Amino acid sequence: MGPQRAALLQKELGIFTFADLIQHYPFRYDDRTRFFSVREITEEMPHVQVRGRITKMEVVGAHRKKRLVARFTDGTGDIELVWFQGINWTLDKIKPGIDYVVFGKPVRYGSRFSIAHPEVEPSTTANSAGGFLQPVYPLSEKLRARHVDNKVLIKLQQQLQSLAVPHVHETLPSELIRKHRLMEKKEAVQQIHFPKDQQILLQAQTRLKFEELFFIQLRLLKLKLVRQDKFRGFAFSDTTLLTQFYNTQLPFPLTNAQKRVVKEIYADMKSGRQMNRLLQGDVGSGKTIVAFICMLLVIGSDAQAVLMAPTEILAQQHFTNLSRLANAMKLPIALLTGSVKKADRRPLHAALQAGHLKILVGTHALLEEEVKFQRLGLAVIDEQHRFGVAQRSRLWQKNADTYPHVLVMTATPIPRTLAMTLYGDLDVSVIDELPKGRKPIKTIHRFDAHRLQVHGFIREQIALGRQIYIVYPLIDESEKLDLKHLMDGYESITRAFPGVPVSIVHGQMKPEAKDFEMARFVRNETKIMVATTVIEVGVDVPNASVMIIENAERFGLSQLHQLRGRVGRGAEQSYCVLMTGNKLSAEARVRIDTLVRTNNGFEIAEADLKLRGPGDLMGTQQSGVLDLLIADLAKDGDLLKTAREEASELLQNDPSLALPQHAVVRQQIERMKKSVVNWSRIS
Ligand code: ADP
Ligand code: MG
Repeated sequence: MGPQRAALLQKELGIFTFADLIQHYPFRYDDRTRFFSVREITEEMPHVQVRGRITKMEVVGAHRKKRLVARFTDGTGDIELVWFQGINWTLDKIKPGIDYVVFGKPVRYGSRFSIAHPEVEPSTTANSAGGFLQPVYPLSEKLRARHVDNKVLIKLQQQLQSLAVPHVHETLPSELIRKHRLMEKKEAVQQIHFPKDQQILLQAQTRLKFEELFFIQLRLLKLKLVRQDKFRGFAFSDTTLLTQFYNTQLPFPLTNAQKRVVKEIYADMKSGRQMNRLLQGDVGSGKTIVAFICMLLVIGSDAQAVLMAPTEILAQQHFTNLSRLANAMKLPIALLTGSVKKADRRPLHAALQAGHLKILVGTHALLEEEVKFQRLGLAVIDEQHRFGVAQRSRLWQKNADTYPHVLVMTATPIPRTLAMTLYGDLDVSVIDELPKGRKPIKTIHRFDAHRLQVHGFIREQIALGRQIYIVYPLIDESEKLDLKHLMDGYESITRAFPGVPVSIVHGQMKPEAKDFEMARFVRNETKIMVATTVIEVGVDVPNASVMIIENAERFGLSQLHQLRGRVGRGAEQSYCVLMTGNKLSAEARVRIDTLVRTNNGFEIAEADLKLRGPGDLMGTQQSGVLDLLIADLAKDGDLLKTAREEASELLQNDPSLALPQHAVVRQQIERMKKSVVNWSRIS
């Protein structure tokens, strides 16, 4: 390959080496197993492969309608081949009177079929025998524009097979290969590009997916071992405060799930090893009090605790809730966010450094240099996926010698498969039970046409003393238009409910104004809260029992579930009404139906993963972790589980990979370390 094309491959596809190229796997295979005659073609066929000759070529139309049309026949009938782009190039390449193999999607126009931008190759003994699956590779527009198309890639891969395959090493222990009947690596890298048939292709895919997941798990589990070894943690053991809290101040009996989780966390914090634990719990499952109980052990042992939240509103809410508990226990607590004034910060910094201040709640502002603890024993991080890894580690480093224990709380139920991949080096605790007495939220779907009935329902609920949320989505990129949308909604609500006090909260209000409006709603002074998704996280108003979501079809599944979690916090029956237009895409239908069917956050997260794919679910911040070569977290959950079990067993038997039968694994890890591209994928 010439230097210009090589540079293009590097830039567009990140392909620098033979290894990169051979790992540029097809994303699809065209079925070239058989030829059709033109007469057999039907509209249902996704693709057809035909063999014949071009009888006539002409350029028709002008300007934007200009196209090249070729008449193609195989003796049983004729079809048209059409090009809208690359007309000159195609005219140069393709001539009447030569035998061609043509492949593409047939579309009927009147009495004749036509194929737009078909693949056309001179007929050879190799391609006219049929009986193969043709790889289709990921490409960029830029590559195509420079005529590096699928054909070029196929040719490259063919050349590479003879050059590189002899150097491909087995990477899995033979015992594993035998046990799971996996294809050998050498064979797999051949069959993944040029599979003989569907069944062999499946075997090759399984083998390569397993390998990918196995090495990710191996690395994550190894990290965990190393950390357990190396990072001494505080060993906290004084439970006096805890006992006092349990005996005198506990506001409600803990659920069994809460008790179990507290036990797990206490065991970690007493062990002398640094804790790194993910606390998962559906909205309303009561994570806050668990976090507070964990803080008690730390404070009782003369250390401090911090809670970091992703937004100002959420930090504020945590502070309010924790203050109630902390004040009852006479524990000094403070809030630090970006809007705390300089003058107010100084005494706070001093109290923190002297160790008088026991609990600090805040936003990113906590990470600033001046924020120094006397002895930070526990860092609780809420809604972790919104923080980057680098930010988290800055929190860890607030102590010079010993890392604080880390508890990451997430209200987004993360499907097991994802949790295993993303947090494979964390321990996971799950609160899988809601406090008693909660009635499941009733979720209803209504079309916009039935708005009047919904208004009637709102009126009834207000008469019963309840409060209502009405949430509008962010629709446009432009904040101005979104605001207009929200304001229109606000106006029509005030018109429909004269005399009913209405609050409004959106992202462009000043924090003080937001807090003022929130506070009015919390005090039950306003009955309806019109808001954008700023209320998605955290806000807790037990008397609010109805959540109306406008344009529900525009929200993601997990987001809808989060929003719904704002109600159902009190003793009353709560409702969630999903308002949509009449026309729903198939996917939107699935989302709405799923939400109406179930309240189970994990079930919803699984469905979301299937619909959207993992990259979306976690936001771009962590997409690097999920940038898998071949495995698909949404589909390969079982394989991931097996890979994890095997990786774990291997490490248990041979933590340093010293046994001769594990040499292949050790060597592969060395190779991956050298390859920056691979390594960054999973670190
Ligand atoms: P989340 O897990 O969503 O952060 P919170 O910690 O905000 O949930 O708890 C939701 C509500 O449930 C709060 O009002 C809290 O006081 C209450 N709560 C938590 N645990 C219990 C319990 N065991 N029994 C009754 N109410 C509880
Ligand atoms: Mg919470």
